[in-house]
Amino acid sequence: MKKAYLILALLPMFMSCATKREIANSYIPDNTTVAYNDFFTENTMRFDFHHSGDSKNEMYHFDKVIREGIWAGSRNSLINPFNYGEQMFRIVDSATGNVIYKNNYCTLFNEWQTTPEATVTDRSFPESVIFPEPKENFIIEFYARNKVSKIWEKKYSQAVNVKSYDIVPGNMPYENNDIHIGGNIANSLDIVLLPDGFTETEKDKFMEACKMWSDALFSYAPFTQNKNRINIRAVWAPSKEKGIDKPGTGKWVENLLGTRFFTFGSERYQMTEEFQKVRDVAACAPYESIFILTNTDKYGGGGIYNFYGLGSAGKTGRTGEVYVHEFGHSLMGLGDEYIEKGNTVSALYPEGKEPWEANLTRFVDFNGKWEDKIAEGTPIPTTVAEGSTEKDWVIGAYEGGGYLEKGVYRGWPECMMKALTEFCPICQEAISKYLDYICK
Ligand SMILES: [Zn+2]
Repeated sequence: MKKAYLILALLPMFMSCATKREIANSYIPDNTTVAYNDFFTENTMRFDFHHSGDSKNEMYHFDKVIREGIWAGSRNSLINPFNYGEQMFRIVDSATGNVIYKNNYCTLFNEWQTTPEATVTDRSFPESVIFPEPKENFIIEFYARNKVSKIWEKKYSQAVNVKSYDIVPGNMPYENNDIHIGGNIANSLDIVLLPDGFTETEKDKFMEACKMWSDALFSYAPFTQNKNRINIRAVWAPSKEKGIDKPGTGKWVENLLGTRFFTFGSERYQMTEEFQKVRDVAACAPYESIFILTNTDKYGGGGIYNFYGLGSAGKTGRTGEVYVHEFGHSLMGLGDEYIEKGNTVSALYPEGKEPWEANLTRFVDFNGKWEDKIAEGTPIPTTVAEGSTEKDWVIGAYEGGGYLEKGVYRGWPECMMKALTEFCPICQEAISKYLDYICK
């Protein structure tokens, strides 16, 4: 390593943003395929940055580029065609101006922006995205949805010299263990499970929780029938102290990933703000999707699209359902289909704007969701007749979802994303389509 870095020492570091290329005409339509081997190595590249601002404004500040282990994503699906998420990034080949990779996601910063605190103060969150390592120099571009119009706006770009000696070699000190291997890395969804708040002596407890997580996932359609293209690995990374921070009760512990309850003032909302640390540990296994298991029996969790999901490992009762519900959020951004009584306004689902989530609609842009699955003559809003059972239910548009009683509709009366039951037919189809893309 030393030798290679000496040779490269005279080369320029990251190119300044002043060299960024105008790419107005370089957009590759979603159905265009990029030949992986022409543009990418076998490795994963990671771009760390800080995302800061307040409820209305956001800024991005470059931190570092890291070269990590084998790229676990598809080599055929490189331009994410799903219009999900609040954030999007693109990798543009510097020489040709062509977009060679695109992915969408959401972050904890996006959620924080909807809190009252964000109207009176600025904050900064560490963030990070991963993509296959480009062979040649590239530009990374970040886009965010406009808060009002919901249209993508370019926010930041940074040119990267792939030969720069400032690219940090990945450090992968923790062992990974196979929990379930269904297929090869490139054509499977690779999930990594991470521990937090488990001490050195609690490896068995964590591994049991991982097995339970895997069993729970595969007990729900459509994951049951996709077992042969899903891989689950667990990274064993112990914490110095046992448990999870509970700031609302004055309890703080030295856990590895910094997970905590009372996120943004909500006791059961369990997350971590240390996302780059999460990526450091996740990199010890080939992965596309991260789920953190926390060593606590307190109810709670969370899940953010293409960011990470999180659940309590020690809770008895409906732990498996909570895992799978949160995974629905983190895998593909499925929206919550439940209602919060008396809730009439939501910053997440404003009137007149179509939710980007596959399982919710406001009929602003229903096309491409489940419109074609509703039989002619089905009343809208659809209702459940008194005394009817599930076999009588039809796909329709049931009012209530996205925490709102009125104005937002879901396709089926019950769902994993509503009341922790089976996934509804709308979610099942959306997950299957997403898996088809990831596993291509
Ligand atoms: Zn659903």
